Amino acid sequence: MVEVASNLRPESSTTCAIIPSLAPDPPAIIDIRVEDFSAARFRQGLGRLIDSLSNENTADPPEIIAPANPTNYGDRFFFDIYGNSGYYPPIVVLHETVATVNQTLNFFQTPHLDEDDQVSYHTLISLLGEIIYMVPPDKRAFGAGNSIFANQDGEEAVQTNPHYPPSVNNFAYHISLESPDDGLNNGRTHSGYTEAQYRSLAWLVAKTGVPEDRITTHKRVDRSGDRMDPRSFDKDYFLAWYQIMPKDQAIFIGCAAPPVSLQPPFGSPSPLGINELPLIQTYPNLPRSSPSNP
Ligand SMILES: [Zn+2]
Repeated sequence: MVEVASNLRPESSTTCAIIPSLAPDPPAIIDIRVEDFSAARFRQGLGRLIDSLSNENTADPPEIIAPANPTNYGDRFFFDIYGNSGYYPPIVVLHETVATVNQTLNFFQTPHLDEDDQVSYHTLISLLGEIIYMVPPDKRAFGAGNSIFANQDGEEAVQTNPHYPPSVNNFAYHISLESPDDGLNNGRTHSGYTEAQYRSLAWLVAKTGVPEDRITTHKRVDRSGDRMDPRSFDKDYFLAWYQIMPKDQAIFIGCAAPPVSLQPPFGSPSPLGINELPLIQTYPNLPRSSPSNP
C-alpha cells in the first residue's frame, strides 16, 4: 500500500545545505506543500508493480508515506559549524518507539518550534511490518542527539548546531521499530518484535547499501548515557533475515554536493576557519542507481 500526497512540485530539493549558522535563526514555519514527497524520493521503484521474481520471504512489505512536519528534521550539511567536512559514509541506526506507531506519527507530524522537542526518524516499522516513510533520506532526521559512531577507524560525529553536542545525525538513516504493548514503559526489556518487523527491517536495510559493519543501534551510538533502544533486539535473527534479502541502493542516504559556486573558496580566510577545503566533494560518494554494485 502506497499513499502519496498529490499536487506537489515534481522536483526534489536534495542538495546539501552548505554550513550551519553559529547562531541559528528561530525556526520558520515551513510550508509543507513546497516539499517534494514523491515516492521515488524515499525509495526508487516505490509504487511500481511488485517484482514477479520476489518470493514470499523477500517480497515488498506494505509501504506508506506519512511525512513528518519539517520543523522536526533538517538539511544534511556539507560542512560542520567549524567549516570542516561533514561527510562520513552513511550508517543505519536502529531504534524503538516506546509508543504506539500512531502516537509516534502524531508527534512527528506536529510542528515543534522548540529545538528540544524536535525529533524524528526517517522510517517507522509497525508491529504488522508496515514500512512508514516519514523523513526523506536526503534530509537529516533528529534521531540521536548526543552520539558518536565508533569503529576501527576512530570516532565519527558531526556538530551542526552550536547549542548541542556532535551527533551522528548528519550521516545517519534512522529506523524505529514500534514497541510491543509490554514495551510502552521504561523497563529494561520486553517481549521483543514481531517476525513481520524483522522481515521488513531486513528488507529495508538491504535497500540502503549500508554495509553490515555500519548498521548500529541508538544504544551503541548514544553518549548521553540514558538510551538503551532498541531493547530486546535479536541481532542474530535480524541478520538471518538480512542475509536472504536482495541488496541494492534503492534508498539513497545523503544529498548532492552544493554547486561549486556556493562553496567557500579554497584557501580563503574565514571567521569559521575554512581554509583547507576541497572545492568539490560528492556527498555521499555513492552511485545513485546500480543495483549490481557490490
Ligand atoms: Zn532511539
